[in-house]
Amino acid sequence: MSKALNIERGADGIVIATMDLPGHSMNVLNEALSAPLAGLTDLLEQDASVTGLILRSGKKDFLAGADIDRLRALSTAQEAFDASMALKHFIRRFERCGKPVVAIINGMCLGGGLEIAMGCHWRIVIDDGRAKLGLPEVKLGLLPGGGGTQRLPRLVGMQQALQWMSEGTEVRAAQALSSGLVNALAANPEDALMQARAWISANKSPKQPWDAPKFRYPGGDSRSPAVAQMLAIAPSMASAKSYGNCPALSHIMSSVFEGGLTDFDRALEIEARYFAACAISPESKNMIGTLWYQLNALKKGASRPAGLPRSKVSKLGILGAGMMGAGIAYVSAKAGIEVVLLDSSQAAADKGKQYSQELLDKAVKKGRSTPEKRDALLAKITPTTSYADLAGCDLIIEAVFEDRAVKADVTRQAEAIIAADAVFASNTSTLPITGLAQASQRPAQFIGLHFFSPVDKMPLVEIIVGKETSDETLARGFDYVLQIGKTPIVVNDSRGFYTSRVFATYVMEGLALLAEGVHPRSIEMAGLQAGMPMPPLALQDEVSLSLGLHVAEQTRKDLAAEGIRYVEHPGEPVLRQLCALGRIGKKGGQGFYDYAQGEKSLWPGLAELYPLKAEQASQAELIDRLMFAQANEAARCLQEGVLRSVADANIGSIFGWGFAPFQGGALQFINAYGLPAFVARAQALAAQYGERFAPAQRLVEMAAKGERFEEGGPGEP
Ligand code: NAD
Repeated sequence: MSKALNIERGADGIVIATMDLPGHSMNVLNEALSAPLAGLTDLLEQDASVTGLILRSGKKDFLAGADIDRLRALSTAQEAFDASMALKHFIRRFERCGKPVVAIINGMCLGGGLEIAMGCHWRIVIDDGRAKLGLPEVKLGLLPGGGGTQRLPRLVGMQQALQWMSEGTEVRAAQALSSGLVNALAANPEDALMQARAWISANKSPKQPWDAPKFRYPGGDSRSPAVAQMLAIAPSMASAKSYGNCPALSHIMSSVFEGGLTDFDRALEIEARYFAACAISPESKNMIGTLWYQLNALKKGASRPAGLPRSKVSKLGILGAGMMGAGIAYVSAKAGIEVVLLDSSQAAADKGKQYSQELLDKAVKKGRSTPEKRDALLAKITPTTSYADLAGCDLIIEAVFEDRAVKADVTRQAEAIIAADAVFASNTSTLPITGLAQASQRPAQFIGLHFFSPVDKMPLVEIIVGKETSDETLARGFDYVLQIGKTPIVVNDSRGFYTSRVFATYVMEGLALLAEGVHPRSIEMAGLQAGMPMPPLALQDEVSLSLGLHVAEQTRKDLAAEGIRYVEHPGEPVLRQLCALGRIGKKGGQGFYDYAQGEKSLWPGLAELYPLKAEQASQAELIDRLMFAQANEAARCLQEGVLRSVADANIGSIFGWGFAPFQGGALQFINAYGLPAFVARAQALAAQYGERFAPAQRLVEMAAKGERFEEGGPGEP
């Protein structure tokens, strides 16, 4: 047998099969592993001296999931159906072989990994804090196609299974046990092996619960009134919640519901049909290309300068302990970095540290951390007002007020203390890095590290390369972002960088629509229908209208100083009008919405300020405007060299401001629309609504040459 599966056979007839895919850091269900796994079933069925099987992993994780390369290659529904049936077939043979099969689960056991484990008669988890079990397929627009939508509900109940599968939840050991997903926990691999052997000796010929004639779903099946009621409305609710943009969600629910009305083997076939529908959908193709291939390429360093040694930050200095500084301190200390958190008063610095205390207290209360771990993390953060404490820092991140003079002052004070080879980063959201670097004695070591709020939740950091930033500095910034577990994108310096610049086109288009007399509710609905997490007017309220106006006015001033013509966006007068009325956004208690006791509702006064046009545009037209504004601006960023790669553009858009994930990102949106069609539609929008829609020259050229943006795939970003 292949080395992917090592077989040991004891005198007691128990076979221990250890999955250890050569050349891979994790086991995945590719041909090299699935072929010998299928061969195991022959051994169980045909060799009378074999008394049972223990399946385990030789790597730090059990099995991370399906082979995405194989999924990517599926082009027809029939191929997808056949692939799903083939996987189910061998899992089904496992569970019906008449001999006991036990899975010992360590680390990650996801997707196809969990589907195989659920096909074993007994599951035991090594409870060392690393175990994560789940069916995350929905995150790539897919449905678990190896029996997951049938076995999970039969083990843990339909409601729990639906919740986990529709959110792609990863379950820890304790919950896996209490929910019935697994049967036992073990302290370590030896203990697991001992328990597995004991179970095999005591259960010579086990059957899966669903193969017993009197099997009942825990909590009721598709015919039980309460479950049927929940399931009857669940697909439409899921579809309504995702505005019809995530077919995988309703397919998962339908597969669970219909599977519960029939026998198990028929149910597996039903699942394979829904799997096929998902696997060939444009949504899953978009998501796999971007959220699998391009994301992995970025994490592996596709945008990092090659050939430079890996670095690690051991001591980090943060200037400014406000909202951002406090968040950066938390995520860095969590990654084991010693943090000096400096502010102009001790009270402000302490308040910054208090933020970590609050997050950790909550985690302890919820059982996600322990008092010891909390105290160890807090001990890593030193709040101070003294620059002398910055001695020995290898990286400084400045997060003081968005003011050039204040930033210049703290840069000088910090540089007087830190070592000559330390890197200095600014978390500015709008000020060009090259300009800020003028305050530095060592502009080659000056870089932008743009975090997003709230820092502990947002996965992205936009790294901004100034004119003089060296490759070594970029590599060190990049390594730090990975060190704290975030995803880095790398962009060149320019006004608004990439994320703020393109994000602004979304909200500003919403404001322009309002100014034209489109009903505000239609505008908000169009944002949601387009797949954006928040509608444009609500979003502008969140970031504040006064900040939006400040940025627009600063840009106008800066461009005038550079002698560049400023073209006012038609949304800008709306910002000015509302600010003049004191409606500055959520923080002021009123903006496009009124905020009263946690409730918000659109401000009725908008109807007087912006009377409705007699003829309202269709929702499709509004959606096009919101999406084309962003995609076209992203293409301009690539054309101007602000963006350095397609992967940075797509990942930055989804992780940075929530660009509709099922579209695969701002540039993949253009691919999926088709370049010639996108160019033609953009030209039509430009003729009707203004030059801002004129397609980026790069798109016109690509369309003429029949080119597309890279889509991510095996071996390419
Ligand atoms: P904030 O007002 O919450 O915090 C700023 C902190 O800096 C305050 O605690 C203040 O006391 C401190 N400070 C000011 N001057 C100082 C000085 N001379 N020395 C030491 N400390 C000083 O602001 P924030 O929202 O945390 O933003 C900080 C930076 O991060 C800004 O450049 C902002 O543009 C950028 N940023 C903010 C966001 C966001 O969503 N808020 C997102 C990305 C980037």
